[in-house]
Amino acid sequence: MSCLIFHSWQGKCLCTKCGKKRDEGHQWDWGKCKICGKIDKDTVDALLIEATRTRDTEKVKLLLSRGGTPNATTQEMMFHDEVERLIRSLNDSELNRREAAAHLLSRKGELVLEPLIHAMKRRTAWYTLRFGLNAMIKMGQLAVAPLITLVESDDRDVDTELKQRAASALSEIGDPRAVPVLLKTLYQDGWVGWSGGFIGEDWHYGAAALGEMGNLARDQLLEVAHGSDETATKWAKWALEKFKYKFK
Ligand SMILES: [Zn+2]
Ligand SMILES: [Zn+2]
Repeated sequence: MSCLIFHSWQGKCLCTKCGKKRDEGHQWDWGKCKICGKIDKDTVDALLIEATRTRDTEKVKLLLSRGGTPNATTQEMMFHDEVERLIRSLNDSELNRREAAAHLLSRKGELVLEPLIHAMKRRTAWYTLRFGLNAMIKMGQLAVAPLITLVESDDRDVDTELKQRAASALSEIGDPRAVPVLLKTLYQDGWVGWSGGFIGEDWHYGAAALGEMGNLARDQLLEVAHGSDETATKWAKWALEKFKYKFK
């Protein structure tokens, strides 16, 4: 039904009879008219600047969905929001989502390392540590220095399991920088644990990581194996024997 002239505006931007729109009577809600859906770009941009300033993530997302122009701070906020979401997904109940989150995090570059390691230390969730380390392994070179920091850490918030798993992660990346760091663990307490295997035996996580690195660590392991420190010698020999298939 067309109204020709006598539209039924009722003070709004939309004729209730024919649906014709006019540019008055809008009901604005964060830059968008609730009645006709019109978006006022200038208002959206202004509100986005304000929401960015007050770091209101939900409002920022809403205004971006309405075509707001982000500034550098807005982009940084959205980056961190996405990183936090992915870190939570590391503990998703679905394996494929945990793997996808690790993969996506690994591609976001070094800025993810700090929040990721922070979450791995807190370890409020079962899978965060395991899949967080998967992400770091996928990052490769970029993750070597922070993993070394974890292995060498004396902080209370870096527990034995985190150190042991960081050592394994280093061996998987296979960077020579890890060798001298892992060699030091042969002289330290706190690196021996249950192997978790069927038979079960004492397992030195630092020595095992060196063994896994194969030829990259071979000469230095041999040197320690012929050294004078009884404990270090024992574990160096253990690594050379246990992982002999890695040395060629
Ligand atoms: Zn009308
Ligand atoms: Zn309207």
